[in-house]
Amino acid sequence: MSTLYLVVVALAGLISGLLINLLATRLTSKRSLLGPLHCTRSSHPLTWWQALPLAGYLAQRGRCSTCGKWLAVSYPATELLTMGIFVSLFLLEGLGFRLLFHALYSTFLILVLVIDWKHRDIYFSVIAAGSIIGLAGSAVLPEVGIVSALIGAAVAGGFFLLAYLLAKLIFPKVEEPLGAGDVLLALMMGLMLGFPNIVGALLIGPLIAGATTILLLISRRSKLGDFIPYGVALCAASLLFLVNPAPFADALHLPALVAALSNIFGHS
Ligand SMILES: [Zn+2]
Repeated sequence: MSTLYLVVVALAGLISGLLINLLATRLTSKRSLLGPLHCTRSSHPLTWWQALPLAGYLAQRGRCSTCGKWLAVSYPATELLTMGIFVSLFLLEGLGFRLLFHALYSTFLILVLVIDWKHRDIYFSVIAAGSIIGLAGSAVLPEVGIVSALIGAAVAGGFFLLAYLLAKLIFPKVEEPLGAGDVLLALMMGLMLGFPNIVGALLIGPLIAGATTILLLISRRSKLGDFIPYGVALCAASLLFLVNPAPFADALHLPALVAALSNIFGHS
């Protein structure tokens, strides 16, 4: 029976991945969210099997069978990533409300990640919808709770707002040294992860941003000071925490950190 569930969860992951690709493409090109699917290379309509997540790419061997152009690897990669995270969550958590909400959180986080990676932008509509889901999930899931979600949002949003204002003060000539979207993203993460998990994600985020920047520089895909993928890194850190919070908490000595913070805020 659990094999059947595993297959259903994997399929749900693939379909979510397809939706993420669709939303990312249409939101950023200001097209209607509804309507038939089109080839991303030549904008001709797709047949049903060409549009299948992952399988469509594999069946066409990476090359559109209508126009003959190479398809972007990022689309099947997104579908594969979403499926992998859904399956990991299922193996860790089993079926239930926790899996439902964590799968929804992952979908929003990967959507923000994909749009920020490709277009260096964070969309308010996506953050707003994700925040509502985060608040609803925290109310339902006993290990988070509304209070912890609101503290998490205040800590993360406040921290990034401070960083945003400081960056503006230090680099007055740069238009947006740190995006306002990063502040909103931190707020959404706080609502989803709650306090204290959000502290761990905020600590790991800059490490991932640094590592990604170095990789981009080495592969010569960007120049120094060109682009620091904060949004991408924050999403990746949140996904890591959703899939496996405990080892990170131990590695970061989070319990001690939380005890110290609880003393400061008088919250137990
Ligand atoms: Zn085509």
